[in-house]
Amino acid sequence: MCGIVGYVGEKDAQNFLISGLKRLEYRGYDSAGIVTISENGKATLIRAKGKIVELEKKLSKNKNDDKIGIGHTRWATHGEPSENNAHPHKAGSIYLVHNGIIENYKELKAELVSSHDFKSNTDTEVLAALINSFYDNGKHPLVNAVVQALKLVKGTYGIAVVSELEPEEMVVARCGSPLVIGVGHDETLVASDASALVGHTKNAIYLNDGEVALITKNSIEVKTLNAEPVSAKVEEIETNLAAIQKGGYDHFLLKEIMEQPESLSETLRGRVDVENNTVHLGGPGLSQDELRSIKHLVIVGCGTAYHAGLLASYYIEKFTPEITVEVVIASEYRYRDAYIPDDSVALIVSQSGETADTLACLREIKKKGVKTIGIVNAIGSTIAREVDGGTYVHVGPEISVASTKAFTSQVIAMVMFGLTIAQAKSVKSSILAPYIKEIAALPEEIRKVLKDNSEIVKTIASKYVDYDHAIYLGRDTAYPSAMEGALKLKEISYVDANAYAFGELKHGPLALVDDRFFEIALLPEGPLFEKAVSNVQEVLARDGHMIVITDAQEFDLPVENVVKITTDIKIFTPLLMNLISQLFAYYTTVAKGFNVDQPRNLAKSVTVE
Ligand code: GLU
Repeated sequence: MCGIVGYVGEKDAQNFLISGLKRLEYRGYDSAGIVTISENGKATLIRAKGKIVELEKKLSKNKNDDKIGIGHTRWATHGEPSENNAHPHKAGSIYLVHNGIIENYKELKAELVSSHDFKSNTDTEVLAALINSFYDNGKHPLVNAVVQALKLVKGTYGIAVVSELEPEEMVVARCGSPLVIGVGHDETLVASDASALVGHTKNAIYLNDGEVALITKNSIEVKTLNAEPVSAKVEEIETNLAAIQKGGYDHFLLKEIMEQPESLSETLRGRVDVENNTVHLGGPGLSQDELRSIKHLVIVGCGTAYHAGLLASYYIEKFTPEITVEVVIASEYRYRDAYIPDDSVALIVSQSGETADTLACLREIKKKGVKTIGIVNAIGSTIAREVDGGTYVHVGPEISVASTKAFTSQVIAMVMFGLTIAQAKSVKSSILAPYIKEIAALPEEIRKVLKDNSEIVKTIASKYVDYDHAIYLGRDTAYPSAMEGALKLKEISYVDANAYAFGELKHGPLALVDDRFFEIALLPEGPLFEKAVSNVQEVLARDGHMIVITDAQEFDLPVENVVKITTDIKIFTPLLMNLISQLFAYYTTVAKGFNVDQPRNLAKSVTVE
C-alpha cells in the first residue's frame, strides 16, 4: 500500500533510505522505519509513528555508514499506527518490510506463537516469523526461506528482506503490490515506486507478480516462486526529478492543478488531427472491424477514475450511435455476477495502474473473454501490463493524494477512444468535428480559466471555511463533474460534501437546505440551462447559501457568489468548471490549515481492497 525502499551497495544506506522514503511520502502513511546492517551483522533499527521528520530526529542519534538496509512507510491495515507496529519487523535475525495484506495471517500466527514472541499486531510480523522459521538461523539460504514462506501466504505483498547473518544480500518479492529494482554501478536499489530511484539510476527491473529476486550490489537474480529463472528486462525509468518536485508551488496539489494545460497537451500529443477532423489512438490495438462491432462499453474505476468514466460516458453516448455505456465501481463490480454481452469492450481506468479493486475487475473481465483497454497513467504498472491494449494518459507523476490532472486527462482519453469507435462506425464528421476541435482547444482554455479565476475562487473559498456540509449540483455532463467536485472537497478539506443530479433535489436532498449547508451549482449553457436555473431558484427560495459556477455571462440570480468563466468551449464546459471545483477544494483546505497533499486516512495508490 505504501512505500518500500532498499539499498545494497557501497554508499551510505541510511541516506538513500531516508531520501527514498521522502520521495514516497506523497502516497500517504502513518509511520515509518528503516533498518541497516553493518558488515559484521549489527542491525540498527529505527522506527517512528508519524512523519519521516520524526524518524530523522531519531536517526541523528543512530547515524552509521552501513551499506545495506531497507525502509518503509506504513499505511496501517492490521494494528493501529504506532512505533511497535511500524516496519521493519524482526524475527530471529531477519528484518522484513511489507506492503499489502497477509489475508491468512490468523491461521499462520496460530502455528507460530510457540516459536516467536510477537511484538506487534500486524499481519506483517507473521510473515517475518514464517520466513524466519524456514531460515532457521541461516541454515538455509534466505531466498529459499522467503519462497517457502510465500508459498503458504494468501494475500498481497511487495516485500524486502535482509538478514544480520548475510549483510551483503537482500531478497525482494511481489504479488499485487509493485516493486522496482534499480540497477546501478556497484549498487542495487529497491523501491515500490520508481520515483524513489530517480537521480540514482535510469535502469530498472519491474518485478511481476509471483516473482522473487535475490539482490547483491552487483547481481540481480529473478525467479518465480516455482524456482523457474526469469530473464528480467531492464527498462528505462521515465520519470524525471523536476516532475516529482514542487516547482515553486506551496503544494503538489496546486502545482498539479496548474499544470493541466501541459499535462492535457501530453495526453493529446500526436493523437488529435484537427485539420483532418480525426483522432488516432495507437495503444488500444483494435482493428477497424473490431471497433465497428463494439456495442457495449463497460468502464471500471474507483473514486476519481469512476467519475472520469461517468463524465466520459455522457459524451460517448452523445456522438456514438447504437452503443450502451455502463460505468461501474470496481470494488462492487468485481463481486457482481454481471453479464457482459458480446461485442463489449472494457475500459480499465486507474491513475496508478495498481488500484487493487480495479485490477481484480480487470482479471475477472478477462476471464469472460472480453477485450480490456487500460486508461492508465503509470507506465509499466500492473494494469498497464495486463490489459489487452491501452492508452496512457501521460500526465506525469501525480504526487498529491487527491487526483486532479489525471481526472481531466482520463476523461479526454476515454472520449478520444469513443471518437475512434464513432469514426470506425462512420459517424458523420460534422457530428464529430466540434468534439475534436474542442479537445484540441482545451489546453489553452484550461490555461485561461485557471489564470482568470484563481484569485476569485480563493476569495470565495475563504467565506465558506466554517461550513461542514456542502451539496454539489448539476445536470447532464455537469452532474459527474459535480460528483468529482464534491469528492475533492470531501477528501482534502473533510467537508461532508455530496453531489446530486439537480432533478433529484425534490426527491430528498432539498430537505437538507439550511444554514449548516452551502451549495455549489454547475450551470453550463445549453439545452438544460433554464431547467437548472429553476432548480437554483428552488434552493434560493429556501434561503440556501449558493455558489454558482457558470459560463452564462447574463446569469443574474441573487446567489451568494458566482464564478463566471469566459470560454469559447461549449461541449466540455463541465471539465472547465471542475477546475473551479479543484481550486475551491484547494483553497478551502489551505484556509482550514489541513495537510493538502496528504489528507488523513488516505493513500495515493490504493493497492489493498
Ligand atoms: N498490512 C501491513 C500492516 O498493517 C502493511 C500495510 C502497508 O501496506 O503499509 O502493517
